[in-house]
Amino acid sequence: MKIGVLALQGAFIEHIKILRRLGIEAVEVRLPEQLDGLDALIIPGGESTTISKLAVKYGLMEPLHKFAAEKPLWGTCAGMIFMAKKVGEDQPLLNLMDIVVERNAFGRQVDSFEADLAVPALSNGQALPFPAVFIRAPILLEANEEAGVEIVAQLEDGTAVAARQGHWLVTSFHPELTDDDRFHRYFLEMIKK
Ligand code: GLN
Repeated sequence: MKIGVLALQGAFIEHIKILRRLGIEAVEVRLPEQLDGLDALIIPGGESTTISKLAVKYGLMEPLHKFAAEKPLWGTCAGMIFMAKKVGEDQPLLNLMDIVVERNAFGRQVDSFEADLAVPALSNGQALPFPAVFIRAPILLEANEEAGVEIVAQLEDGTAVAARQGHWLVTSFHPELTDDDRFHRYFLEMIKK
């Protein structure tokens, strides 16, 4: 199995390190032809406006869209914003997941925080909460269940922070910044199916 991590900007090295630790071949992707032969792609956190601007500049929008039609994609934080159909701001989006996202939803006061999330989809996910790191994180305002979007994780107040639609996954937090690799293993299971 070979997984690409979009390496235009942001926390791509951290994803690559976890994948390699799990024994997976992981490569940085900056150009359209580097998508060839990959089984899946991760879009990391960072700054979604920068990532999308660079994706437009390097001619990646259409190739990413085509790739995503067939192969699993996982967006963390800025990657989740980039994969959404709608964000209340004018920036290029991949327009894939049927979700509405609000950027920087926790405001300046709460720039970053950690929360333990019960995530039933993960192995041992009820008994052992997932340590989720949020950094100027977005939230899911809407998730179209009729289109097949399922909420995967919520904060205690019900705010949706992770979702899946078929072979696409989004998390508004950063599993690559923790030692807990269960989200990465969950994504690997999605690829095998
Ligand atoms: N605030 C960033 C954005 O709007 C996302 C932050 C992150 O990826 N940690 O794109």
